[in-house]
Amino acid sequence: MPEVVLTSDWTMMSDHNGKEFLGFGTTTPALLLPEAAYRRLFYPPMDCDADGFPREAPYGLRKIEAALLEAGIDARIVHPSHLHRYMPGEAKLLLISGHDYLGLNPPSTTFSGVMKKTSLNRINFMRMMRQPHVLEAHRRGMKIIAGGPPAWQLTEETRQKLPWVDAFVREIGGIDAVVEGEADLFVVDIVRKALAGEPLPAHVVISPRDAPRVEQIPTIHYASINGLTEIGRGCCRGCSFCSVTQRPTRWYPLDKIEQEILVNVRSGQHGGLLHSDDVMFYGSPNIMPREEKLLPLMQLAKKHYDHVGWSHVAVATLMTKPNLLPKIHDILCTGNQTWWGVEIGVETGSPRLITKAMPGKVAPFRASQWPELVVQAAGLLNDNSVYPACTFIVGLPQETEEDVIQTIDLFEDLWDFKAILVPMFFVPLGHLKQTDWFRRDAVSERQKELFELALTHGLRHSRTLLDRFFEDRDGLAGAAYRTLFARFVDFLTFIAREKGVLHEPGEHYVPHRIESPLHHPEDMPLPTIPVR
Ligand code: SF4
Repeated sequence: MPEVVLTSDWTMMSDHNGKEFLGFGTTTPALLLPEAAYRRLFYPPMDCDADGFPREAPYGLRKIEAALLEAGIDARIVHPSHLHRYMPGEAKLLLISGHDYLGLNPPSTTFSGVMKKTSLNRINFMRMMRQPHVLEAHRRGMKIIAGGPPAWQLTEETRQKLPWVDAFVREIGGIDAVVEGEADLFVVDIVRKALAGEPLPAHVVISPRDAPRVEQIPTIHYASINGLTEIGRGCCRGCSFCSVTQRPTRWYPLDKIEQEILVNVRSGQHGGLLHSDDVMFYGSPNIMPREEKLLPLMQLAKKHYDHVGWSHVAVATLMTKPNLLPKIHDILCTGNQTWWGVEIGVETGSPRLITKAMPGKVAPFRASQWPELVVQAAGLLNDNSVYPACTFIVGLPQETEEDVIQTIDLFEDLWDFKAILVPMFFVPLGHLKQTDWFRRDAVSERQKELFELALTHGLRHSRTLLDRFFEDRDGLAGAAYRTLFARFVDFLTFIAREKGVLHEPGEHYVPHRIESPLHHPEDMPLPTIPVR
């Protein structure tokens, strides 16, 4: 029985109905429907064995578990509903990880800001930490260490900025240590200290200089959610708002990747996601894709998985060697796979903003080419059966009204692009960490128009993409999933229409939402305001 327990909350400990993309749904609040409906759609519970060990677990947590097991430490990932088996009692240490503990990352702040409700990830994280057996174990001396990408949300600095975070951390009896950065090596030291009863550092930031080398990064021992397998770490594009850019770039050799894929295949997984901050950079020391590295990686993944997806790719990388994508398509879209998905950070339609905040994003092209590059990449992607989620940043400190208008123009040019366009509020990460957060009560009318266009575009294309999305589910199961999600899209469309937030391209109007009792919207025709 483990003396070191690792866990994540329920929104993380789920396979999201076998579709990683549906994990986005956990960053929303439960709007009008009960939380159970959202759980069914976006984070159904993960199966566990008799000990409460989940069949699949978040990849990052699996890495930490592997590092501890290889150091001879008795550690296991436990499902958050089964923590009571080990605490209070055997567990001397609880390691927590997640994606967005308190709903402070861009998607959660955007959805909760627009809907004015608490996001599901925050609700579930707080619920997990407030479980009586967790509180009691902590009170009796069990230490808690927080890590993973959202570790910054529990630091002293964040607690000082956000009093409600401080109140929550006090309520759960404090966090003994917060660890930021790549902890594959460091975790063994801090866990040994904690088990020996030595004092722990309250906050540790592992610098990129101390990031582990490839051969020091452990191989997972148990299955990861949705067969996710890391192929490398780091990104050299240097965007000012991104923390990833601070890490050195490292690529795993194929045999290391294959070992992890096989761990997942042996646990019964038929599909998997290749993870890196730009999959098409695999094996490259610079910003030029290397075909001789990339194609063997795709062949390897397809040899073991029926369905292969990607986590991220960059527009400029796609367009640097546009003839590579058709070759990858011919490898991946065989058997019963006819498409794949990926997340792409498009961020803006404004060349000026590219130059100011993310000049590396467009390399080796010029910033002035950016909108045209994005439109061409959209055609290339859809022609090769790739249907991405494209994220945009709203409210960067350098953003002007003209930048937003250029992004609106880009959305209109992408109107027939089969994809989901996701604008998100800026959250200071990376080099901009000291910058004030974008205030969601300061959303301009232009920015509202942008959100409404994205919503209308997304609802329109969700409908057409649903059939493909569940192509790996046969017969009744596939039909049931398609029906379930089609009804949800209908529900969202109904709500959006009722609220008057659907917005077609070319209208170029900004609905007035004047709250004064003298101006009921029903009494006033919506004015049309030219934006150019
Ligand atoms: S391209 Fe993406 S991962 Fe790389 S630095 Fe920019 S935002 Fe970060």
